[in-house]
Amino acid sequence: MTTDLLHDNPLLDFSGLPRFDTLTPEHVQPAISKLLADCRALVDRLTSDQVTASWATFAAPLADGFEELSRAWGVVVHVHSVNDIPAWRDAYNQMLPEVSRFYAEVGQNLKLFAKYKSISESEEYASLSEPRRRIVDHEVRDFRLAGAELPEDRKPRFQAIAEELAQLSAKFSENLLDATNAFAEVVADEAELQGLPDDARQAAREAAAKEGKDGWKFTLHMPSYLPVLQYADSRRLRAALYRAYATRAAEFGAPEMDNTPLIRRILELRREQAELLGYASFAEVSLVPKMAESVPQVLDFLRDLAVKARPFAERDIADLRAFAREELGIEEMEAWDVAYVSEKLLQARYAFSEQEVKQYFTEDRVLAGLFKVIETLFGVCLKPDSAATWHEDVRFFRMETPTGELVGQFYLDLYARETKRSGAWMDEARGRRRRRAASLAAETDTIQTPIAYLNCNFSRPVGERDGKPRPATFTHDEVITLFHETGHGLHHLLTRVDELGVAGIHGVEWDAVELPSQFMENYCWEWSVLPGMTAHVDTGEPLPRALFDKMLAAKNFLSGMHMLRQIEFSLFDLRLHSDFDPTGDRSVLDLLAEVRREVAVIVPPAWHRFPNTFLHIFAGGYGAGYYSYKWAEVLSADCYGAFEAAGNAFDPLTGKRFLDEILSVGGSRPAIDNFRAFRGRDPQVDALLRHSGMITA
Ligand SMILES: [Zn+2]
Repeated sequence: MTTDLLHDNPLLDFSGLPRFDTLTPEHVQPAISKLLADCRALVDRLTSDQVTASWATFAAPLADGFEELSRAWGVVVHVHSVNDIPAWRDAYNQMLPEVSRFYAEVGQNLKLFAKYKSISESEEYASLSEPRRRIVDHEVRDFRLAGAELPEDRKPRFQAIAEELAQLSAKFSENLLDATNAFAEVVADEAELQGLPDDARQAAREAAAKEGKDGWKFTLHMPSYLPVLQYADSRRLRAALYRAYATRAAEFGAPEMDNTPLIRRILELRREQAELLGYASFAEVSLVPKMAESVPQVLDFLRDLAVKARPFAERDIADLRAFAREELGIEEMEAWDVAYVSEKLLQARYAFSEQEVKQYFTEDRVLAGLFKVIETLFGVCLKPDSAATWHEDVRFFRMETPTGELVGQFYLDLYARETKRSGAWMDEARGRRRRRAASLAAETDTIQTPIAYLNCNFSRPVGERDGKPRPATFTHDEVITLFHETGHGLHHLLTRVDELGVAGIHGVEWDAVELPSQFMENYCWEWSVLPGMTAHVDTGEPLPRALFDKMLAAKNFLSGMHMLRQIEFSLFDLRLHSDFDPTGDRSVLDLLAEVRREVAVIVPPAWHRFPNTFLHIFAGGYGAGYYSYKWAEVLSADCYGAFEAAGNAFDPLTGKRFLDEILSVGGSRPAIDNFRAFRGRDPQVDALLRHSGMITA
């Protein structure tokens, strides 16, 4: 049995596209076990003293061996996320711990580190291509940050810190979830539900009935909490939920769910970890693999943005207060009124129906519009192609040069299914690389072209028209999501880098990786594009300008206030991990208050315990990295600004430079060098402010 499954196992066939037509869950265990064993044997062989540390004898064969494992496992991960039936889930779960263990071993293998380090110190290093030097540098850097260069007597302590931090992060999110679950408010009087949409009422009714109770049950989970804060006319109900939400996992509730001591401990350990590695703060460690160069640089960036956004945020808040007083009879707008008043003001100023907008974004038209944007900007042709897929709804396309040369291919899986993971994402089936001619007799190298998966969860076509299925229609948000994921896809597909380790999105700094995706979103707001990508599902009419103007105004509604909030979180995160002393007298809340005095226009009540719920930085990998959201937005807006400056969203020269200097370069060059090469200067925040309606004339 096992031999058969190894003999003709589609997961072990690397000659072309994944063989989704013959692949079954039974193939997973034999194939992945074999590849893991092969990789371990390869690591053993390559780390022996007999092997010279050079690109050709060490780094290249290691990358080749690891590529097979990551491609085969990538197919399993992909099928598990788009076809999560029990047999696939079992196959995936059976091998996941094995694969994770393997990668953890590799990350701690000091013999691998020693080989990379000798390459970096060898004479060969200077003669390596820039992409190859980058790969070696990244490997050495990552091993160092994982403690590989610590003196032997410090390593156990470093390891113990890493383990305790992992436990503390897990406990932090568990506490938050438990505290979120611990609260419920059951409303007995229907009059208190005034203003709430029907679906929110219905859900609350069912939640109460499920527990055999009368009335309507509200919780702190988003689908229950948000509609109350946004729509409930009852100020008492809004205030009760707001207070419960804002005080989760703090000293007001069960002591075992209080995150306060965990925060101190996490900050202490992160600081100790940074000191062991020879850095002044955890923020410095966090920035090493990122595009941002130093803590002061990021602080300046955030403060500059705050100063520029402030007048707009002040205007936003003054508008809200005035509207609350004059139209809603709310004399003093409190924290629990903000979402409610915002919603009412939005309706009063810019009311339009999402449903109406959706009628214009018909699937074929949207795809044609998207493809046109890509073809015009980057000089490629997109054509339907054929391949075995995992579902009949999935489509497959190829990207070619104007002379018909294959650039890359991608699967497009648009519709939601019960067996599909939620959200939208881009993933890779195969990366671009140059394969060296196997022998001297073979004259030319071959290029392995990239292949991507683009996955969304949009609604499938419903109903019929003239005896044919009515086309699917998308909301504008869905269209933006499609453009966003396609941007990640373009980064992967349009790369020209020959080395897998820094081709496409590989090796791109985490605070720069959203540049191409957010860049593409701009085209969903470009009036010159919209008529070409919209056609009303019944009349065929393009999107009317008046409707577009309302959409644009709503997009920028309260943008100053929202921007300052993101800056407040970012500054708090960065200062917590740089100049805050977790063993000192000042509390985390003191620091937050100081940050708010500097940048906030709304100061929440004194009992608000925001830090105790800040999952991103204490349990989500964003520690000293929350600023990345704004950072990447500035980069992408500034890049789009180059097209605006050229007076044409499709300016061919600018498009070519964006392709040459950013998209095609991938991680083979530092992101800041890519940016400077494209823009001719350092990033500036003006374009983002302009796109957000904060025009500084
Ligand atoms: Zn993204």
